[in-house]
Amino acid sequence: AVAAMPLLPADVLAAYQFTPEATVRLFGNGHINRTYLIENSIQKLILQQINTQIFPAPQQLVDNALRIEQHLTVKQQQGLYPLQILRQQARQDGHYLSGEQADLRALAFIDGGRSIEVVETPAQAFAAALTFGQFAAALADFPADELHTVIADFHNLGFRFCQLDDAIAANKAGRLVDCQELVNYCQSQRALVTELEQLCADLPRRVCHNDTKINNMLYSDAEGRGIAAIDLDTCMPGYWLFDFGDMVRTCCSPEPEDSLNPAAVRIRPEIFTALAQGYLQGLAGIITAAERQSLWLGAKVMCLMIGIRFLTDHLNGDCYFAVHRPNHNLQRAENQLRLYLDLLAQQDQLQPLLK
Ligand code: ADP
Ligand code: MG
Ligand code: MG
Repeated sequence: AVAAMPLLPADVLAAYQFTPEATVRLFGNGHINRTYLIENSIQKLILQQINTQIFPAPQQLVDNALRIEQHLTVKQQQGLYPLQILRQQARQDGHYLSGEQADLRALAFIDGGRSIEVVETPAQAFAAALTFGQFAAALADFPADELHTVIADFHNLGFRFCQLDDAIAANKAGRLVDCQELVNYCQSQRALVTELEQLCADLPRRVCHNDTKINNMLYSDAEGRGIAAIDLDTCMPGYWLFDFGDMVRTCCSPEPEDSLNPAAVRIRPEIFTALAQGYLQGLAGIITAAERQSLWLGAKVMCLMIGIRFLTDHLNGDCYFAVHRPNHNLQRAENQLRLYLDLLAQQDQLQPLLK
């Protein structure tokens, strides 16, 4: 967890041209960084304390974000990027980072937007997927491999299976006996590792947002259009199937990720349909036929992979994901696996939407 910061140091405020009477409050609903809104009568600014346990090299985040910002700026000038751009805000001295651990950075506040936490309507899902699709489209010609890999093996399914193997072998918390069935099921799906590797070998490497959750885009207050893709911390080289899959994973269930009502966890077909339409519209003319077809595997892989990660953390005694009740990670794992199974059950209806 990020250490509490009761008051922002006056010198940090001054570095962004704020006097000490500016108001500072915690803002938004992010789970990774600590996000503040600083405000006075003239300006608003987002200040984030980067979680250095997850991102040990904040400079790499800033470097990636600046390069993406530059690329999107050119696209916008050419009329090829219809969204607002998330901009890093430099200090007066030209630096982007502050604080003892160089873990504070500022972002220009994007006005007129709001983020939501749960997808309620197909229109919301469509707008989110269109936004992330437009973001991906504008970065399609960016040299993805020049981005820093801020977290190694983030979407490496084989690696996640190995971590599960280690957790099973160690059985550190003695919990294997409670979840043997779920473990066995995950293990039975291992063929997906090879399937994914073989498929990816023929796909172009792209800039992946890697955190395409609903609260990482902003809707316009007025008509619910998407106005910006935000939270670029995990942008790395990858494959678009991961971004589509993460949208499916986080938007399609009517229940929260840690629902205590697993029987109600399911893929809402109308939400899946809206996601597919929005993403493909955003990427129209750019996404290759092979990439379109890979999106279905992306949906399956993301549900399975995050399920495996929750299960691994449960077996390890809850070291990575914050837990607030007994078996919290086990419940999350079960819910992800339910989404995975429901994708399989609805494959005949849903997969053709991506063809
Ligand atoms: P985390 O990495 O912790 O998820 P985010 O970068 O997603 O942090 O920021 C958390 C929340 O703060 C977002 O969901 C959004 O509501 C709000 N937010 C972040 N950046 C901006 C911005 N530039 N303008 C307006 N709101 C923002
Ligand atoms: Mg976020
Ligand atoms: Mg983030």
